[in-house]
Parts: sequence; C-alpha cells; structure tokens
Amino acid sequence: NRRIVLASRPKGAPTPENFRFETVATPALGEGEVLVRNQFLSLDPYMRGRMSDAKSYAQPIAIDAVMGAGTVGRVVASKDKNFAEGDAVLAFGGWQDYAVVEAKDLAKLPAGLDHPSYALSILGMPGFTAWHGLLKIGEPKPNETVVVAAASGPVGSIVGQIAKLKGARVIGIAGGPDKCRTVVEDFGFDACLDRKAADFAEQLKKAVPDGIDVYFENVGGQVFDAVLPLLNVHARVPVCGLIASYNATSLPDGPDRLPLLAGTLLRQRIRMQGFIISDHYGDEFADFQRDMSSWVAAGKVKIIEDVVEGLKNAPDAFIGLLEGQNFGKLVVKIAD
Ligand code: NDP
Repeated sequence: NRRIVLASRPKGAPTPENFRFETVATPALGEGEVLVRNQFLSLDPYMRGRMSDAKSYAQPIAIDAVMGAGTVGRVVASKDKNFAEGDAVLAFGGWQDYAVVEAKDLAKLPAGLDHPSYALSILGMPGFTAWHGLLKIGEPKPNETVVVAAASGPVGSIVGQIAKLKGARVIGIAGGPDKCRTVVEDFGFDACLDRKAADFAEQLKKAVPDGIDVYFENVGGQVFDAVLPLLNVHARVPVCGLIASYNATSLPDGPDRLPLLAGTLLRQRIRMQGFIISDHYGDEFADFQRDMSSWVAAGKVKIIEDVVEGLKNAPDAFIGLLEGQNFGKLVVKIAD
C-alpha cells in the first residue's frame, strides 16, 4: 500500500519535507471492516489546520500518520454484510492506495455514476458547505447584492450559482483574469473582480453601487478589508473560511483593526456567523442532497474539477491550493 504520511508539522506554508511517501503492507481485515481501493482523493484547505497541533475543532493528524482525506473508491474485500466487492463508496480513506474502513463510516454510491468524484465536490462536502452557509446564514433575497470570495473554487462557485437561483445580483472575487472569466462565463456571476489588481478595493466599490447585503467569507485578509466598509445595514456574513491566514505564523502588522470591525458590526447591525459544516450533516444533509441533485440534473449548478494525476503529486498540489494555484475543485486521481 503506497501512502503519504505527515512527516513534520509545517511552520508557515507547508513544504514537501512535511510529507513522506512510503510503502507498507495492507493490514488484514477485522469483522465489520471493508478494504477500499481509493480512486479519487479530495484535497481541501481544512487539511492545513489538521497538520498543525494548535487547538481547533478537530483533532490534529499525528506525526507519521496517513494524511486524512475524503475519498471515492471501490470495495475490494469486505467483512461486513452491507458491502460487497465492486461497490462504489464514499469514505474518509486518506492519501493512500488502499484504506481499511469500518463499514459504519462508509456510504454506498449509486453504481455506474458518470462523475463519481462529484461526491467529493458538488454533491458532497464543499457543495453542502456552500448550500448551508448561503441559505441558512446568508439568506439572500431577490435583488440583493451578494459578494463571494474565492469564487472559482468549489465552495465559492456553488455559493454564487445558488445566489443567482435565488434572484440575487452576484459579484465574485478571484485571483487573476482567467479565474474571473470562468466565474462570469461558466458560473454565471454578474461580475468578478481580480483580488490581485492594484485598485481592487476601488473596483469593488464601483461594482456594488447599492452596497453589499451578503458577503460569503472564504478568505479574510485584504479581501475582507475591502468588503468591510461596503456592508449594508443588516448585512449577513457567513464566515466559512479564512484561507489568507492559514499559513500565517503571527498576527498581521499594522494598527489594531478590531475596533473598526466591532464598530461596523454595531452601527450596521451586521450578523457575522462562523460555521463548521460537519455539525450539520445529521439534520440538513438530506435536504441539501435533494436540492443539489435536482439543480445538477437540470444543469442549473455546475462544478469545474482540477484533476491531478498520481498519488505522489498530492503534496505539491496541496501546497499549491493554499496559494491559489488550483483552478476548480482539486482532486487527485490515484486509480481508474
Ligand atoms: P478553493 O478551491 O476555493 O481554494 C482556495 C482558494 O482560496 C484558492 O484557489 C485561492 O483562490 C484562494 N486564496 C488562497 N490564498 C488566498 C489569499 N491569501 N487571499 C485570498 N484568497 C486566497 O477552496 P474551497 O472552495 O474548498 O474552500 C474555500 C474556503 O472554504 C476555504 O477557506 C476553506 O477552508 C473553507 N471551507 C470551510 C468549511 C467549513 O465547514 N466552514 C468547509 C469547506 C471549506 P484565488 O486564486 O481565486 O484567490
């Protein structure tokens, strides 16, 4: 079994030395366990947090343990009556060829799916994150202005497409002109601004003449600085991610901006609410699946995948994700 383990904890941005590629024997199956051949593994920004041992909402990955990841694969052996050889499954199988998984932690996928990897994106965790954050916290109304950060990625692109379905005017923010073109032409946003442009804050101000009613926060940092003065009275800000600071080793330089933030929240009566999507599977995932599968079938919501070939390329792809080098939902294909 080829696998990638956490060799050391990153200081700042992860480097290839934080990962180790190794080959080990595949463990024997116990009762109630299933052996899965991983075909696709999902690379997601939250993994940066799991590489660190700072206090968080989830346990860190132990040194020398396999890097965790959502996976789509096929059952090759089973000691559980509910799974049989050949079943397509969604698992948390990690950065490796084969995973031994307890049957209770596996979900069966329909046979013969055209895009099994969608279970890791539009029909899975990132899609659910977009759906929950926008509809349960952002609550966009027709003709409101919704601004979405990291708009070409899986969460942001789906947020914007759902907001359009709800009748909002939707402005994306992404890194570079190619991503911005895709956000408008493929995902149907009304406009998209390049966060790297020198006059980005000015451009944003011009793009939202009526202010911002919903800001879907995926990044933090300078993007949030530009958004804050444009938030309307009673704006909603689902705080989903802060990727601009995931590799940070200290607070940013400069004056303390907390009074500005708190003062704006107070005067504008803004609701800013963080959420962690794993809290919501029990009571909302079925509703999400119903909505999203019908939108996908009708061609109303789509996803762009960035597929990297080969397990050994996972570390570099992940390092690039934190720098915005991915273009769409990043998945690694490790077997046919
Ligand atoms: P993406 O595929 O969108 O990848 C992250 C993107 O963030 C990059 O492509 C890049 O886009 C952007 N980015 C990177 N660095 C910076 C920076 N310094 N400043 C601004 N933008 C930057 O990822 P996802 O769609 O999977 O995730 C989006 C966000 O949602 C992340 O913050 C993630 O942690 C969060 N998340 C939260 C969940 C929750 O439960 N709360 C669940 C899932 C995701 P660009 O080049 O366009 O700037």
